Amino acid sequence: MVTNLDRKTTIPITEIEQSAFCQTDDDLSSRTLQDEFEVGVRWQKLPISYMRMSPEQIEANIRVAREKLADRALILGHHYQRDEVIQFADIRGDSFKLSQFAAERNDVEFIIFCGVHFMAETADILSTPSQRVILPNLAAGCSMADMAQTDDVLDCWDDLTDALGEGCVIPVTYMNSTAEIKSLCGKNGGIVCTSSNASATFDWSYSKGEKVLFLPDQHLGRNTAAKMGMRLDEMILWNPFKPLGGNTLEDIKNAKLILWEGHCSVHTRFTVNQINEARVKYPDVNVVVHPECTLEVVTAADSVGSTEHIKNVIEQAAPGTTWAVGTEISLVNRIASENPDKTVFCLDSVVCPCSTMYRIHPAYVSWVLDGLVEGVVVNQIKVDDDIRRYSKLALERMLSVV
Ligand code: SF4
Repeated sequence: MVTNLDRKTTIPITEIEQSAFCQTDDDLSSRTLQDEFEVGVRWQKLPISYMRMSPEQIEANIRVAREKLADRALILGHHYQRDEVIQFADIRGDSFKLSQFAAERNDVEFIIFCGVHFMAETADILSTPSQRVILPNLAAGCSMADMAQTDDVLDCWDDLTDALGEGCVIPVTYMNSTAEIKSLCGKNGGIVCTSSNASATFDWSYSKGEKVLFLPDQHLGRNTAAKMGMRLDEMILWNPFKPLGGNTLEDIKNAKLILWEGHCSVHTRFTVNQINEARVKYPDVNVVVHPECTLEVVTAADSVGSTEHIKNVIEQAAPGTTWAVGTEISLVNRIASENPDKTVFCLDSVVCPCSTMYRIHPAYVSWVLDGLVEGVVVNQIKVDDDIRRYSKLALERMLSVV
C-alpha cells in the first residue's frame, strides 16, 4: 500500500504551465496552433494540417462543418473560453448552467463541450445514454481538480473514518472535481456544490452530519463557512502529502470543517494590494471577485459570486460605473467589450488566462467537428457506469437542496 509518506509532492503540470501564457499586454488573439506550441506546452496531438491553419482558415472551416452538422451538434462554451471559440457557442455559461442545458437538449446527438475535462464528465453524467459528449482537447484539465486525486482522497476518508467513526463527516465536493470524487461523495452520503449554491449545500450537510470534508478548493470552502459565521479555528486544512493531513487526532476531533488543500491557480493571483491600488486610482470603483479567491480578497471586495453573478451584476449596473474584477481574463475582457458604457478592468495587471481553458484552441474545435462530419467521433468523454451512478446521486442531491 502506498502511504502518504511514500508519495512525492507533485505540482500538477497545469500549475507549471499556468504562467506560459501570462503577458503584460492584453492581446490574447489566437495564433496558429504550431506557434502556440512554441511556448513549450504539452497538449494533445492532432493532424499537422490543423496545426498550420491560420486563424481565418480555421474559422471558415468551423463554419462549414457547423452548417453540415446543423441540429445534430450543440456547442457549449464556458465563460473562460477564448473569443475565437466562444463565437461558435450555442450557449455560454458556467459549468453547471452548461451541463443543465446539455441535459435539457436530449434531441442533439453530439455535445461539444468547450471547457475543461470535469465539465465534459458532468455533461456526460447528466445527458442521455445515446448522446455523445466531446472535449476538443483531452489535455484540457483543471489544475484545481488535479489537486484531489482519488487515492489521496480515499486515504483521507479512511483516516477520518478511523478517527471519528462512520456517519460523522459529510463529504462535499465542488463541481470542479473529477467524476470519481463526485462519486465518492455520492457513495458516502455527500453532495456536490457550485460557487452559487455552496451555502445551501453546507446547510444540508450540517443537518446530516457533525463535520464537513470540503473538496478540492480550500478557498470556496473557507469563504462559504466564514460567511455562515464559522470561526477560522473551527476549520483545519488537509494536506494530502502529510500523515493525517498534517493534523493531530485532537485537531480532527475539534474541527467542524476539514478543507482539502487545493486552490485555483487563476483566482489565487488576486491580492488585497491590487484592490487597494484600484481604490486609490478609482475612488468610486466597485470590486467584484469570485469565491475561489482568498478570504482576505473576498473580505476586501464589495461583491462576491460566481461567474454568472459577476457578469449579471456588471450588466445590470448603472452606466458610468467602474468595476475592478477578480476572475479569469477572457471573461473580464468580454464583459468590458459588451459593456462599453462602464469601465471594467481586471484587478491583476498581468494578463493570465486559465491555462487549461486556453487549451481549447479553435483548431481542436475544427478537428472534432470535421470528424463528426465524416462520421468519426473524436475525443468522446464517457464516465464509467458505477462512477456515473454515484456521481449522479451527489448531483441530484445538490439539485434537491437549491
Ligand atoms: S479557472 Fe481555476 S478552477 Fe476554473 S478551470 Fe481554470 S484552473 Fe480550474
